[in-house]
Amino acid sequence: MSLHLNDGKGAAIIYAANFGEYGIPVPDGGSSYITLEFCPWCGTKLPPSKRDEYFDRLGSDKLEET
Ligand SMILES: [Zn+2]
Repeated sequence: MSLHLNDGKGAAIIYAANFGEYGIPVPDGGSSYITLEFCPWCGTKLPPSKRDEYFDRLGSDKLEET
């Protein structure tokens, strides 16, 4: 999957290292993206998100997300 990110033409797909997620950027001027579970090119199942671990490390008292 990471091979697809490195063609030097500007990424259609981003990798959010903090979360361990691949995503399609949403052009809303922010940093939103749509999380991908599978590689759009080769269909490989991508590694599971580390989002929960990330927020666990930050301290769950900061976010009340369900
Ligand atoms: Zn791939």
